[in-house]
Amino acid sequence: MTGATPAVHDRARSLPSTGLPSYVYDLTALRAHAAAVRDALPEGVEVYYAAKANPEPEILAALGPYVDGYEVSSGGELAHVADAVPGRPLAFGGPGKTPDEVTAALERGVERFHVESAYELRVLAELARRYAPGRRVAVLPRVNLPVPDGSLAGSSLTMGGRPTPFGMDPAQAREAVRALADGTYPHLELRGVHAHLASGLEAAEQLAVAETVVSWATGLGVPLAEVNVGGGMTVDYTRPERLFDWAAYGKGLARLTEAHPGLTLRMEPGRALTAYCGWYVTEVLDVKHSHGEEFAVVRGGTHHLRTPATKGHDQPCSVLAVDAWPHPWPRPAAEGERITVAGQLCTPKDVLARNLRAPGLRAGDRVAFALAGAYAWNISHHDFLMHPRPGFHFLDAEDENV
Ligand SMILES: *Cc1c(COP(=O)(O)O)cnc(C)c1O
Repeated sequence: MTGATPAVHDRARSLPSTGLPSYVYDLTALRAHAAAVRDALPEGVEVYYAAKANPEPEILAALGPYVDGYEVSSGGELAHVADAVPGRPLAFGGPGKTPDEVTAALERGVERFHVESAYELRVLAELARRYAPGRRVAVLPRVNLPVPDGSLAGSSLTMGGRPTPFGMDPAQAREAVRALADGTYPHLELRGVHAHLASGLEAAEQLAVAETVVSWATGLGVPLAEVNVGGGMTVDYTRPERLFDWAAYGKGLARLTEAHPGLTLRMEPGRALTAYCGWYVTEVLDVKHSHGEEFAVVRGGTHHLRTPATKGHDQPCSVLAVDAWPHPWPRPAAEGERITVAGQLCTPKDVLARNLRAPGLRAGDRVAFALAGAYAWNISHHDFLMHPRPGFHFLDAEDENV
């Protein structure tokens, strides 16, 4: 997967230098990946795409046939996703929903609310009474559950099973579920329970989480239509070709749905759906030596692709050698085998990949950074240092015009 798909490779080579850096997304590859994920999942399991991973309208639309809806975590995402994929079911989650955001969601007829606190439940109940008269708004309290010992060991971002601002303690969540089931809030309907406990989990860890959440939820003794077991399927940045084991996860979920007939299980992956379809393509501007090491400076940097800085990894990439050198001045080239690839920002944190094996890397060569389809452009600090923005290309084998 580090190597670009043929369509991305062609575009990465054919763009002029002035068109770099660019984000190049392969929508055809995204559709194939999403279809394979879907195929691995049993009946009774729904997929909502967590829009925060990459909310580009083309990405949201390409995922359309393979997802049951979209999870949004702010009023901004809500308005954006509702415009990009009109009419699709939305679940509104995330901590710190403002009364204005809740009102806007109610007025738009959002299908589901993942409620993050006891206070939020009371606010929602009152706003639903005022702004959603004549219907009952579906609610899933979000619970922060302890998970089996060791099952979150591999997690990169843990938001459950320890003190966090996310969701409710089990006792509070149980109380919220009881109040909803008792009819304390006549304008709200208890639809189920939601949990998103960690990101970066392997299939076995995800299953342990799902089992914990389902067994807690079904043990509450109130009828529930749905249990949302969250997202957080791992993406391995050190071995991009090693995908999350959707088949094993699907098999495990099938056992859970069989054990609980009538219960819909929902997941809301972000990263593991879209990371693989995006590349950040750029070119080497300069090659230099510093205290015994070599550095390549590329157009752009972590203000466009912040992922390696936030996750502290080397972004996987491949080098596209470019033999032409249009300038009258000599072309700088690396002397050694290994080189650190940095961006144009005046900070030592602006490193995309350290000690990359790229013997003889030259100015003018191109580099395509993989796994740039999720938490990449949209989490980056675009305006720092006022460099130009990258280009955006959405390659689609079904559409000749892009
Ligand atoms: C971020 C988030 C997700 C998606 O997580 P990924 O690691 O991208 O799969 C799902 N649900 C909630 C509540 C989130 O905050």
